[in-house]
Amino acid sequence: MADTVDLASDVSYADVVRDEHWSLIRLVTRSEPPNPYEYPRSDIGLTMYLRQCGIEHFCGREVSHVERPSALDARLAVELPRSSGTPDEPLLLPARVAWPRLACVLHIAESLRAIAGPLEVLHWWRPGAYNAAVSNANEKPGSDHVTASAVDIMARDGSRLDAAVEAVIDPIWLADRTDMVRGISIGHRRGSLKIHVGVWAPATRAKGAPRRWSYDPATGAEVAYR
Ligand SMILES: [Zn+2]
Repeated sequence: MADTVDLASDVSYADVVRDEHWSLIRLVTRSEPPNPYEYPRSDIGLTMYLRQCGIEHFCGREVSHVERPSALDARLAVELPRSSGTPDEPLLLPARVAWPRLACVLHIAESLRAIAGPLEVLHWWRPGAYNAAVSNANEKPGSDHVTASAVDIMARDGSRLDAAVEAVIDPIWLADRTDMVRGISIGHRRGSLKIHVGVWAPATRAKGAPRRWSYDPATGAEVAYR
């Protein structure tokens, strides 16, 4: 349902509670999930929402930063919220219906960070045209980023990230293969500083099984894992 919602504009509280991530975050936080509609749709509002979800190390500004402003459709840019620090700067801050999706992936990111050390979110939501303009061959149109179901994360230390993937991702991956609780999608190559983490992304849901891929070191193309 929520996948078809235009994420540039806000919908209703009813759409939030219909989204699978709403119940998933309840499962992860073991408490009543905060209502994103009680927070302003701004970078500061998103940070406050994330703190309420137990996310300590990632903020609204970081996850909604526009990596390549020239690729942003001019009409969409007008509709987007502005950065609190720099009022001229549009933020890729989707409708609040999508915020629980971010909280879910950042819960996994927090666990990775505990082992891998500081992590930076490079991308979260990438609306259709922007996604097509900035994507490399690995991130096809219709990717998890269009629905704000995934983040790309950058670590400082590849070997510590490998250890974190082993300790955090592998158990989720194995559990998901038998009982798809998190519907996880993972893109990571051993030794790389980058990792893509998605939770209950539409492509994963459609397949009914968790997805995992690596990248060919020579071509960068996706390679199926295991
Ligand atoms: Zn990605």
